[in-house]
Amino acid sequence: MKYYSTNGKAPIADLQKAVVKGLAEDRGLYMPEEIYKLPKAFIDDMPNMKFQDIAYNVAQNFFGDDVDGDALQDIVYDTLQFDCPVVKVTDNIYSLELFHGPTLAFKDVGARFMARLLRYFLKKGGSATNETVNVLVATSGDTGSAVANGFLGVDGIHVYVLYPKGKVSPIQECQFTTLGKNITAIEVDGVFDDCQALVKSAFMDEELNKHMKLTSANSINVARFLPQAFYYFNAYARMKALGKADELVMCVPSGNFGNICSALFGHQMGLPIKRFIAANNANDVFFKYLQTGKYDPKASVQTLANAMDVGDPSNFARIINLYSDNGLLSEEETHQRITNLISGATYSDEQIKETMRKCYSETGYVLDPHGACGFRALQENLKPGEIGVFCETAHPAKFKEKVDEILGIDIDIPARLRAFMEGQKQSVEMSKNFADFKAYLMNQKQ
Ligand SMILES: *Cc1c(COP(=O)(O)O)cnc(C)c1O
Repeated sequence: MKYYSTNGKAPIADLQKAVVKGLAEDRGLYMPEEIYKLPKAFIDDMPNMKFQDIAYNVAQNFFGDDVDGDALQDIVYDTLQFDCPVVKVTDNIYSLELFHGPTLAFKDVGARFMARLLRYFLKKGGSATNETVNVLVATSGDTGSAVANGFLGVDGIHVYVLYPKGKVSPIQECQFTTLGKNITAIEVDGVFDDCQALVKSAFMDEELNKHMKLTSANSINVARFLPQAFYYFNAYARMKALGKADELVMCVPSGNFGNICSALFGHQMGLPIKRFIAANNANDVFFKYLQTGKYDPKASVQTLANAMDVGDPSNFARIINLYSDNGLLSEEETHQRITNLISGATYSDEQIKETMRKCYSETGYVLDPHGACGFRALQENLKPGEIGVFCETAHPAKFKEKVDEILGIDIDIPARLRAFMEGQKQSVEMSKNFADFKAYLMNQKQ
């Protein structure tokens, strides 16, 4: 499979290059040249298959041209050592729990898959130079822990996690500062945007790129966002097994739109989902785009569902590219196609809290603030006959302080999460000046 850039000014890349580089030379996002349809026989058989086997078939469809079958199977099985159940919440609404991975984040799948795929390419290339690949990742919490844990102990790769000092939750901080080995946590005296700016400057600095091989592991990377499609095939299979998949509406709480984008790729591959809802918190640029056809990025505002605090979603360009047939259709036609398939919702912190309380008192189900946006969007938008599945994107214990306060309960912290909290925190303090960060990286042995 070849990958082109959404900006159309970079050379076509193979999978290896797209994964190692992350972003194309023209700063566009890589897109596969083709999306193969899956055979109907496979779709029909999915309810009898387990998550891992469904995922392997889907992975072959994306990556089968570029990765040997056995190796791909190992990568998929090694990535998916956990389940992804659907749980009934009301008569017509089900929760797709995406938080059963190692750091209890749905991002675990993409991060682990990418780490293993990168390792495969490094090994295959002979790694004669023994050159380490350095992954730089800026995080406001969730991405850092998923990436750090996904890459932990993988030879030939070093990860630098940049996070804003004092601005991530204590549980999140433990998940990437206590690991050691090939993971370095960098505590930046600034806000998330400063961390992201440092990473961006590093990718653009010629001298630094000569000194060390750098790549990114956020959802712009095809190896991180595409594997999330596994979740949606599994959701369909489990709902079909329940006899509830005829008019399925999939609702995805969205920030950078990587997760919903993978679902849309699944739809293009033939996954029978009737329509999608993108649920937003108060950061509503995509919602506004659906209403008006105009995309107007803004600075993000802080909300209770902080993993969705994004004012300029990086995967928006992929969605436009997908439904404009790589720029062939006009803006109006593209907007029309998008609104035919995807609707939106946006909720304030007050509405999120109200939804969490109401859902808990009426059903006993504990929503986290992100999942709450998804649940409410289905409650408000499902039509008669439709069944809705929303992604519960985080385990509520990851936001324990908030969830406990809102619901007046004391939720258990899963053992896996508690284990991180017992480790010793190690981090490198850093100013928000690029010169300091660069000097630090230039001093790291390669
Ligand atoms: C990352 C994240 C999201 C948003 O996912 P995108 O792919 O960025 O749209 C939603 N909820 C949680 C808990 C997350 O960690």
